[in-house]
Amino acid sequence: MSDPLYRRDLLRLAADAHGAGRLPSPDVSGLAYNPACGDKVVIDLDLDDGRIVGLAHETKACVLTQASASILGTTLKGADKAAVEELHAQVSAMLEQGPPPKPPFDIYAAFSGAAEYKSRHRCVLLPIEAVRDALAKNRIDQMENNVAQARRWFAEDLRIAAGITDDTIVSAFARVPRETFIGPAPWRIGTRVMKLGGQLLEYHTFEGDPAVLYHDVVVALDEQREINNGQPSLWARLFQDVAPRAGERILHLGCGTGYYTAILAEIVGGDGSIHGVEVDPNLAKRAEHALTSWPNATVALGDGATVPPGAWDLIVVSAGATHPLHSWLDGLAPNGRLLFPLTADGPNPRNGSGAMLLVSRSGGGVFAARFVAPATFVHFEGGRAPEDSARLLQALRQGFHRLAEVRSLRRDEHAPDETCWLHADTFCLSYRAAL
Ligand SMILES: [Zn+2]
Repeated sequence: MSDPLYRRDLLRLAADAHGAGRLPSPDVSGLAYNPACGDKVVIDLDLDDGRIVGLAHETKACVLTQASASILGTTLKGADKAAVEELHAQVSAMLEQGPPPKPPFDIYAAFSGAAEYKSRHRCVLLPIEAVRDALAKNRIDQMENNVAQARRWFAEDLRIAAGITDDTIVSAFARVPRETFIGPAPWRIGTRVMKLGGQLLEYHTFEGDPAVLYHDVVVALDEQREINNGQPSLWARLFQDVAPRAGERILHLGCGTGYYTAILAEIVGGDGSIHGVEVDPNLAKRAEHALTSWPNATVALGDGATVPPGAWDLIVVSAGATHPLHSWLDGLAPNGRLLFPLTADGPNPRNGSGAMLLVSRSGGGVFAARFVAPATFVHFEGGRAPEDSARLLQALRQGFHRLAEVRSLRRDEHAPDETCWLHADTFCLSYRAAL
C-alpha cells in the first residue's frame, strides 16, 4: 500500500532533481527557508524581459520540497511574475482541497495527498516562495516599486507642503504616473532659484529612475519653446481653489501632454469627463496617447479660442491671455468656473506675467472674480491683444496692492469709475461684488 504523502511519482521527481545546481551568473537569486524543519531552497534565475529563461535550485530539504523544486526545474521556463503568483495561489488552493493547478503545473496534483498534513504544506510551497523572492529582486520591478513609493510620498508631500486639504486631489496625484506624460529619460528638470533680480528657472539633466520626477519641480516638454510640465504645488493649490467635483464636465485648454488633464480626470471620476485642447500637434498627439488609460478624457488639436459647443462646469486654461475670451465666459454652465492666467506682455516674447484669475458664473449670468495666485505662463496665442496687455500692465503697476480686492468681472457697458481695477473695452475687473 502506498503512502499518500510519498507517492512513487513524488519520489521519482525528487530523485531526478530537475534543475539542481547553481547558474554561473544568474540575473537574480532567491531564498526560502522553513524554520520549522530547517528546509532551505536557493533559486537562481536568468530573466529576459521579466520571463524566466534559466533556472537552477539548491535544495536542502525533505522529499516533498525536493520534488516541488524538481517540478519547477522542468516547468517554469517562460513563466513571468504573474504566472508564478498564479502558481503559488493555485498550489495553495489545492492544498486546501481545491483543484490541481492548470497545465503545465498540473503535475502538482502529485501533492494532493499532502492536503491533510497541514504542517507539510509549506514544504510543497517552499521552492515557489524562493522563486518569488528572486523575482522580487528583479531590477525593473524594484524600480517600479521605487517609483510607486516615490509617487505616494510626493502626493503626501503636496498635502503637507502645499497645504492641500482636499483628499481627492492628494489621491489623484498619488495615482497618476507623471512619467507617462513626460516621456523617457533624459529629463530636463527646472528648479526655481532666487537670484538678486528675482526668481529664475534653472535646468538640470537627470536620467535613470523616473522617481526623480516626483518632486515639486517643472519638467521641460519642449525646452526651446519654454513649454514645461508645470509645477505640481501650483496646480494642486489651483485645483483646490476651483474645487472640481465628481461628475463635472471640464474643458482643459492648453493641456500640453495631459498630465494635469489626467489629474482632473481622476478627480471628476467616471461620471465626469474632461476634454483637453492643445494647439501644438506634437503635444496633442502625446497627450492623446498618454491619456488612453483615462476613458473619461479626450483630446483635440485646436487653438482653444473657439470653445467646443456645450456648457462647461469648469474651464481651466494653462496658457496666459491678456483678457477673458467671450467664448470662455459664454461656455460656462450656471455656477461654472473659469480659471486662467491673466498675463501682460513682458521682455520675453514667449511668456508673460500676471495672476491667475478665477471667474465664477452665478445663475443670472453675473461673474464673480478673484485673483488666486501670481502667474508666469507661456502665451495663449489666440488670447493676446496689445491694448489689453498695456492696460493690464498699468493696472498691475498702479493697483498691485489692491489685486486681492477684485471681486467681479463686469461685461455691462459702464463709464470707468473708482470701483474699476482694470477697465478695458470688452470687460472690467471691478471691486464691486457680483450681485
Ligand atoms: Zn469698469
